[in-house]
Amino acid sequence: MKTMHIGFDDTDSTRKGCTTYIAALLVEKLLRNEVKFIDYPCLVRLNPNIPWKTRGNGALCLRIKYPEKKEEIIKENVIACVEEKADLKARGTNPGIVFLKSNSIPKEVKAFARNTITGIVSLKDALKLLKKFEAEALGFKNGRGIIGGLAAVGETLEGDHTYELIAYRLPENYGLRRQVDENSIFEMDKATAPYTFNNVDWKKGRIIITPRGPDPILFGIRGENAEIVKKAFRMVKTFEPIERWVIFRTNQGTDAHLKRVRNLREVKPYHPVIVRGFVASESKTIPRRHILFSLKDEEGKVDCAAYEPTGFLRHAARKLIIGDYIEVYGGVRAPSSAHPLTVNLEKIRVLKFAPKIMYRNPPCPKCGKRMKSMGKEKGFRCEKCGLKDRNIQKVEIRLKRTLKRSLYITSPRSQRHLTKPLRRYGLEKHRKSIVKLVNGWHFP
Ligand code: ATP
Repeated sequence: MKTMHIGFDDTDSTRKGCTTYIAALLVEKLLRNEVKFIDYPCLVRLNPNIPWKTRGNGALCLRIKYPEKKEEIIKENVIACVEEKADLKARGTNPGIVFLKSNSIPKEVKAFARNTITGIVSLKDALKLLKKFEAEALGFKNGRGIIGGLAAVGETLEGDHTYELIAYRLPENYGLRRQVDENSIFEMDKATAPYTFNNVDWKKGRIIITPRGPDPILFGIRGENAEIVKKAFRMVKTFEPIERWVIFRTNQGTDAHLKRVRNLREVKPYHPVIVRGFVASESKTIPRRHILFSLKDEEGKVDCAAYEPTGFLRHAARKLIIGDYIEVYGGVRAPSSAHPLTVNLEKIRVLKFAPKIMYRNPPCPKCGKRMKSMGKEKGFRCEKCGLKDRNIQKVEIRLKRTLKRSLYITSPRSQRHLTKPLRRYGLEKHRKSIVKLVNGWHFP
């Protein structure tokens, strides 16, 4: 048996398709060709800040063992499926497929994947690597999808990773309202917490496992392992048929996109960052209830924005004051004539508070009643006992801060696919483990 890694990306548009669905179809097709999967289909989320993504910047990889005689038919199946299901008419859709025949993934391809998740890479770099490692690739239109295809092959998810069971609709239901029993989803969340995540936004009382668009996905359940997402899936009741489902292994919910930089000078457009600095302006509310403030250190200054749907995070941002020392996490928006370089916040960690001080009129040293000012730098007088004093000063009061020295994360409904939710803290997987596929990880 030979080993092959098949990566593909950029097949969908906002009006049609979903690259995970192509993977789900291929699972069924390839299994009919004596193929053995050596990993779950991998759903690799790439840099969420690149300007030309369709939605969640997800790329897919299938890792298989196969009899050599089946190689051509396997490739034909993949190409035919992408050709048939991709929205090739849409302007921004540029599918790419990569076939890498190798037992292990070369280090440089792994590094390329990391760069595609945390930064921006070029098609030229991808093509160089394909040549060096004798991988085959097929690009449609401008072929940009080859970047995502190769990155999906390169991200072997050896560190922290999660799982998502995605259930798909019958084609005749695409575009119609998704028929799911919301109560069963709230129950499922309670029964499987903390090992599943982002099922519901409890604050808003909303389910968030169903997407909104006309795509083939009915819902997706995210969790720590294949068993738990399968258990959760059995608990969800639907009022429309499920055409198929597959369990994916993924980097969702791991913060894999965020790269720590040493100072604000290293904050670059389109590169998601973690960086520390001092709050340099009072936060202000701009139209549509977004919160803006600036952050500085010795090396530079950037704006930080917490958008309306970010919930808790926006409330926390509003309470920051000048001098607070914080750590911000988020994607970086390029500067324009209207705004400077801006970190779109996903998380804030408050590290050290600046003192919040208020000045009040002093109490009368004779009778204790609060005194009245006699004018700027003219001292105070007591209305009760008549005492006047030119030298007496206002008293300094330290106000209690209502923020806590902790981590604030955007609300579940506005989290990016890659954002690690609060529920996952402490559940991260640090060690490389051998992937063992559970019985029944797909249907049909
Ligand atoms: P969906 O998540 O709905 O499948 P999408 O948001 O993944 O769609 P794509 O249609 O795949 O969006 O478009 C992203 C395109 O950008 C792909 O062609 C991919 O190869 C390329 N790309 C992804 N990440 C990077 C990156 N870091 N640098 C350069 N190009 C990238």
